[in-house]
Amino acid sequence: MKLITQLDTIALAAQEKEAENQAFRAFLSSQESADIDALVQELDATITPQIDCTTCGNCCRSLMINVTPDEVTRLAGHLNRPEADVLEEYIETGSNNSMMVINAIPCHFLKNSCCTIYEQRFAECREFPGLHQPQFTRRLFAMLMHYGRCPIIYNVLEEMKVRLAFGA
Ligand code: SF4
Ligand code: SF4
Repeated sequence: MKLITQLDTIALAAQEKEAENQAFRAFLSSQESADIDALVQELDATITPQIDCTTCGNCCRSLMINVTPDEVTRLAGHLNRPEADVLEEYIETGSNNSMMVINAIPCHFLKNSCCTIYEQRFAECREFPGLHQPQFTRRLFAMLMHYGRCPIIYNVLEEMKVRLAFGA
C-alpha cells in the first residue's frame, strides 16, 4: 500500500470524501466490534511505524492535551523552572484542581513541527491516535474528526475501506 503523508493532500481529501466517510462511519458501526479492532490493530502495526510523527506534529496544532500533576512536576524539572511558574505559563486548571490542560492550541512546545519536550511529552501525546486501544467502533466520531489532520488515521481508514471492500 502506498501511504499519503502530505498534510495538504490529506486535508483536501477529507473535504472531498466527507459524504463517503459518513457512510463509512455508519458501515463500521454495523460491523462486529472485535473484528474491526483486529483489523485496526493490524493496520496500526503496519502503517504507524512508516509515518514519522517527529516531522508532522499536526495533532499538536489541534488537540487539547490533558495533563496530570505528576507530569507538570516532571515538566518543571525538565525545564529547570519552579513548578508554580510552569503552572502559571502553560497550564489551565479546573476549579477543583481535578483537570489540567495545556493552555494553548497549537501547543506551546511545538516548534517547526517538532516537540521541544519530546522525551517528556505527556501521556495523551504518546497515546494519540490510540489505534492500539480496543473498541474502535465507539470512537468513530473522533477518528473521523482527525481523519483530515492525522496521516496515521487517514491511511489506516483508507486501507480499511479497501480491506472491507467498502463501496465495492
Ligand atoms: S507536548 Fe509535544 S507532543 Fe504533546 S502536544 Fe505539545 S508539542 Fe505535541
Ligand atoms: S499522530 Fe498523526 S497528526 Fe500526530 S504527529 Fe503523528 S501522524 Fe502527525
